[in-house]
Amino acid sequence: MTLPIEQLQEQGREDTHDHAHRARRPQAVSRNIKDRTLAELAEWFATQGEPPFRARQVFQWLYQRGATDFEQMTNLAKPLRRLLAEHFELGALGRARVLRSADGSLKYAFALADGREVESVLMPNATHHTLCVSTQVGCAMGCDFCMTGRMGLVRNLTPGEIVGQVVEAARDVDEGKFIRNVVFMGMGEPLHNYRALVKAIDILREDMGFGFSARRVTVSTSGLVPQLRWFAQDRVRAQLAISLNATTDAVRSRLMPVNRRWNIAALLEACREFPVEHRSRITFEYILIQGVTDDLADARRLVKLLHGLKCKVNLIPFNATPDSAYQAPPLEHVQAFQQALLERGLLATVRLSKGQDIQAACGQLVVGERRRPLPGRHPAT
Ligand code: SAH
Ligand code: SF4
Repeated sequence: MTLPIEQLQEQGREDTHDHAHRARRPQAVSRNIKDRTLAELAEWFATQGEPPFRARQVFQWLYQRGATDFEQMTNLAKPLRRLLAEHFELGALGRARVLRSADGSLKYAFALADGREVESVLMPNATHHTLCVSTQVGCAMGCDFCMTGRMGLVRNLTPGEIVGQVVEAARDVDEGKFIRNVVFMGMGEPLHNYRALVKAIDILREDMGFGFSARRVTVSTSGLVPQLRWFAQDRVRAQLAISLNATTDAVRSRLMPVNRRWNIAALLEACREFPVEHRSRITFEYILIQGVTDDLADARRLVKLLHGLKCKVNLIPFNATPDSAYQAPPLEHVQAFQQALLERGLLATVRLSKGQDIQAACGQLVVGERRRPLPGRHPAT
């Protein structure tokens, strides 16, 4: 269910006061081997009297060779393979549905062990692919323009369920190509599932596994300010994208309830404190909704708001969602908005979403029958 904004406030307060508690909170022991970081797996091997390099071997099997059975791990002795199978499961995700778009992108609905589903989108390019992954079933943030938001939060994904989406999609990539980028822009608010997110990134970046570089992993957030600070303090090696989507608190609060807790000024202050690595920038995603966010005065305000930040803007024309009263502006207006930013020295690109014909574009991911009735809200004109 969607968290009422008061509960989000509670969570924010608790989290800021006890920064360390997130590391201390005891975790349920999981049988999914993909929930373990390399260090955790090496620790487990140590308890079995095995050297740490066993964990590296297992990582290679899981993430470089896509093992589907412990028996395939032939550089481990038979008794060790049996021991692994007794303690762990491979945590394979089921393929509930796979849809192919006319533009070549694939939308997966993956079945989780408890029967829930999440979606991932694989977007091909001439030489490489980008995979958009989910971090939660549903989302608590309730953004007005987003289908996932209408589901409410069903549950968090575990690190293994996040990483598992990459493992499964990688099976469909042609020989000679590879998934170069992972973007946390699927279902859910990544920073609302902070610990699992950080672990998943740790696993994905591991050289013995997929070996994603920090430049190739992007986390997109609606703006949970305390978690954004943890992300900086913990030096998580990933690119940051912020769904800004509006230039005034009045409009942003209407579109994104999270803004009622952490407004634009608070969010941008956290962004200014964020350590942006050499040669990298924060991406600000900005949804263009006709008559709501696309005024040229918004473009001018955006330039002012982002002044001095090492950043770029990614303009996303609104993708249609069923029964929504919102519309994307015409393409010429999108270009005029982009031009207004460029003229003022703000780097801006337009994201023409892929997979619209299969409802795989930004904001269109929703699974199952848990759709909430539409809120009675209408965009102000
Ligand atoms: N929860 C995270 C990541 C997933 S949403 C976040 O909000 O950042 C990924 C992007 O899709 C966000 O920038 C969001 O603003 C955008 N989006 C959501 N619904 C959309 C829609 N209907 N049309 C266009 N973009 C949308
Ligand atoms: Fe959640 Fe992002 Fe959708 Fe907002 S835009 S409801 S934060 S997934």
